Amino acid sequence: MTYNIGVIKGDGIGPEIVTEAIKVLDAVGAKFGHQFNYNEILMGGCSIDATGEPLTDEAIEAAKASDAVLMGSIGGNTSTSPWYKLPADKRPEAGLLKLRKSLNLFANLRPAYLYEELKEACPLRDDIIGEGFDMMIMRELTGGLYFGERSTKEENGQLVARDSLTYSETEIRRIAKRGFDIAMKRKKKVTSVDKANVLDSSRLWRKIVEEVAADYPEVTYEHMLVDNCAMQLVKDPRQFDVILTENMFGDILSDEASMVTGSIGMLSSASLNDTKFGLYEPSGGSAPDIAGQGIANPIATILSAAMMLRYSFDLDAEADAIEGAVKKVLKDGYRTIDIMPRDGSAVKQVGTVEMGDLIVARL
Ligand code: NAD
Repeated sequence: MTYNIGVIKGDGIGPEIVTEAIKVLDAVGAKFGHQFNYNEILMGGCSIDATGEPLTDEAIEAAKASDAVLMGSIGGNTSTSPWYKLPADKRPEAGLLKLRKSLNLFANLRPAYLYEELKEACPLRDDIIGEGFDMMIMRELTGGLYFGERSTKEENGQLVARDSLTYSETEIRRIAKRGFDIAMKRKKKVTSVDKANVLDSSRLWRKIVEEVAADYPEVTYEHMLVDNCAMQLVKDPRQFDVILTENMFGDILSDEASMVTGSIGMLSSASLNDTKFGLYEPSGGSAPDIAGQGIANPIATILSAAMMLRYSFDLDAEADAIEGAVKKVLKDGYRTIDIMPRDGSAVKQVGTVEMGDLIVARL
């Protein structure tokens, strides 16, 4: 089969880590008899430099014409980069928000999985880690605070800023269904996270989640307030299977969940719409602090490519092959700098390109 993949390399470490993912995809294609075609699409800071816009209409059309999009990450140092002197709607991140909205990517999946070999990198105590944890954060991605109306106006002699948080029944129902569907393929537990003791949008969220839950009798579900969830993620992460939540809470909790696994450089993510189309990217950002040094961990992007094969192309054996090769490389003792054990023992430190090569060799 032939698959057309839109590729957004982006900024910072983006081009380095995407190059490794493409190397792995090509090796999988050769092994299993698939042709992957790549169409490079500009977004983020590199698009601002080339076109003056973080995302052009042509780029959106190119993404829509692809079977799926593989992305690195976008943005620069938010304190020093000139991109952040531009108005908010011209900055790199505006491109990503616009792309998510244009492609209707309302469901963001972020697995937080603790690899046996990386237990050492987990900042939690051994008795909390236990046998390890494996959860999926399901974050609503196109509604809520990040897409609400906002303004900054002078009132009574001082500036007043407003952001609005809006959710409709339809928006909540479709993400809740996705969350319960995913739970059915996992440990059949959903923790819906909200702030229903304060926010109207959360009270509606809770009501709709309960309605959806009624259609999934096999799934155990519970509600949890977001502040409690932030605490439970470090106190007892093993209790979670699918965490279902709205946009801003999901943004924060998924970073926290990824951190307790030990490295953001290991974690993939998928953003899906109602069709088979998806945007696949690492959970981390563009890491401008280490860009161009050849030391970024490409595994999250490589695992994002595996998610693309599984969710957009239904190529499960091929995705399994990539995930298996990643596990093998860790078992064989190879690590990028971000996942080196604290005591530096018994492993070999490798760079971005070498890590890609080692994974290809184990496919
Ligand atoms: P970041 O995730 O880029 O970096 C946080 C820390 O994690 C840094 O120390 C970095 O070196 C490290 N890190 C991240 N990915 C790594 C990898 N693959 N290998 C090794 N180490 C890795 O977060 P930040 O510093 O807050 O943001 C930097 C830029 O990225 C900002 O412009 C931000 O807006 C942008 N960003 C983009 C996305 C995206 O493209 N989806 C997501 C988050 C942040």
